Amino acid sequence: MTSLSQLNVRVAQAGATLAPKAGSVLMLRLDRAFRCIGQAHFLDRFWTTWGSTIYYPTSVEDPWAHPSIIAHELVHVAQWRRWGPLFLPAYALLPLPAGLAYCRWHFEREAYRVDLAHAPDPALAATQIADKLWREYAYPWPRPLMRRWLVREASTMAHAHTTVREKSP
Ligand SMILES: [Zn+2]
Repeated sequence: MTSLSQLNVRVAQAGATLAPKAGSVLMLRLDRAFRCIGQAHFLDRFWTTWGSTIYYPTSVEDPWAHPSIIAHELVHVAQWRRWGPLFLPAYALLPLPAGLAYCRWHFEREAYRVDLAHAPDPALAATQIADKLWREYAYPWPRPLMRRWLVREASTMAHAHTTVREKSP
């Protein structure tokens, strides 16, 4: 488990900052846009990483009390850095905005690997993450394929853990 100070260091090393969504004009504008397409919880439920800023929703009082979400968002900070100005259009639109949004699935699966690695039951988490991606990320990729990838990843992780345990004295 990551301690709070380790998490602080990781955020600082990533050059990232945490900020409340409600205090950002950009996030308020995005909220308005999302409401137009029927998503009313952008501001109060979802964390959003924009560049190196990790915005936390209005339902969160202390963002540092959510270390696993911060770890997930740090993956997105690194992706924004790696992809530069291409990150946002790729994440939102390519090759399609929904159904076959391979880039979104690709970026999210890299971030959800972190969630999977910390899950007490990775096999169960794999199915839950596939469902969450399907429902909350505008159907980025066919759900059975997402589930299959995540389940395979979970079993590889479980195998790696066992191997490490077997090797340790
Ligand atoms: Zn994510």
